Amino acid sequence: MSSPAGYSFFESVERSFDKAAVFTDWDPGILEQIKQCNSVYQMRFPIKRENGDIVTIEAYRVQHSHHKTPCKGGIRFSLAVNQDEVMALAALMTYKCAIVNVPFGGAKGGIKINPRGYTPYELEKITRRYTAELIKKNFIGPGTDVPAPDYGTGEREMAWILDTYVAMHPGEIDAAGCVTGKPVTQGGVRGRKEATGLGVFYGLSEVCNMPSVMAKLDLPIGVKGKRVCVQGLGNVGYHTALFFQQAGAIIVGLAEYEGSIWNNDGLDVNKVLTHRTKTGSILDFPGSQNFTKNTEALEMECDILIPAALENVINGENAARIKAKIIGEAANGPLTPEADEILNLKGILVVPDMYLNAGGVTVSYFEWLKNLSHVRYGRLEKRFTENMNHHILGQLEELTGKTVTSLERDFIMHGADEIDLVRSGLEETMITATREIVDIWQKTPAIPDMRTAAYVCAINKVATSYAELGIFP
Ligand code: GLU
Repeated sequence: MSSPAGYSFFESVERSFDKAAVFTDWDPGILEQIKQCNSVYQMRFPIKRENGDIVTIEAYRVQHSHHKTPCKGGIRFSLAVNQDEVMALAALMTYKCAIVNVPFGGAKGGIKINPRGYTPYELEKITRRYTAELIKKNFIGPGTDVPAPDYGTGEREMAWILDTYVAMHPGEIDAAGCVTGKPVTQGGVRGRKEATGLGVFYGLSEVCNMPSVMAKLDLPIGVKGKRVCVQGLGNVGYHTALFFQQAGAIIVGLAEYEGSIWNNDGLDVNKVLTHRTKTGSILDFPGSQNFTKNTEALEMECDILIPAALENVINGENAARIKAKIIGEAANGPLTPEADEILNLKGILVVPDMYLNAGGVTVSYFEWLKNLSHVRYGRLEKRFTENMNHHILGQLEELTGKTVTSLERDFIMHGADEIDLVRSGLEETMITATREIVDIWQKTPAIPDMRTAAYVCAINKVATSYAELGIFP
């Protein structure tokens, strides 16, 4: 979908990249190579529905960058899927992984369907056939390209992908690492489901704890008491709202596609969700004000506005009416370039998607490490784990050709509970990334906004990789 000024989503990403590239001194040829998508796979395949009808399914997998492998990124099921969108999302994955030091290249997949229009049996057939198409072209594998959940997909689809991959690669010892976001019982890691929302919370909390940033926005330090509005109550939006509520923020607004609701005294996220399950809508939640226009709550006064669904929600048409002081981009690309400019002029702080929603892929990385190391994290007998994990660390270094970092070492060696390891690893990752970006921003006053600072950070890391590796042949 184009923004009103005519930029496609991928062009918007390119524009943000160019805006940041001037603050780096890399060779223009390298910058061009980083910007482009390395491999774009567009496919069409038939599916027989339960009623006997045959439908043709359009789907994609894009590998944006091979500067590190495997490539990594989710698979979305949505009617809005098109090549441009998948390319943009794959590019964002490259920059996201670079910022949080997750050693993957960016990728993304999409199947152009409305998942609500298919039965679970049909969805399974679509997912398995898509996986088979990826296998045929070598677009999936623990060392090649590793999908994960995204908009419209979750653990169930990841289990189908795993099973299809395993069926077609009998005896492959690392097969479980071909996909992340799996059920915990199928090689998944505890804490992956809520990881993106928790990462959004950790990232924004760190921003709220920065005295210089809060002073500029005329806001008190800390999350407690902050008035928050969340758009989208899917996996990411729901968990983000829940973590903010648990930390003492006031969830004043919630928006979904059927409408939005508001309560100055605060909404209980779980109660709203139960109400929605019962009635089919968030509207008419007791004690709250209804807005029939689903974006209306976004235009109300609050401290933090969190768009957590799809792209282009805040655009040239409604940006001028946004009154929040901070926008946390939990979704990918929720702001158009026009909106970005308007909001920056208004002095609103936009905390950018490309690092803020990196919690999902960070924990995916932990899951992938767990699958390759063939251990279960948890309280095993200490002497046994130490011996075994030393052996695993050696193997991992051999496989990846890199020395493991202290975070990875802790993750493998520790006897702590898996969920604690995942959460502390994620917290450390999000805090470090936030500080790194803000530091770049503050050190170069000409950098206009936090998104540009995040791109500078990502470009420098990816370009360093190219510089060190050289160019084949
Ligand atoms: N789909 C998520 C994202 O956009 C997660 C990707 C992953 O875990 O590979 O970041």
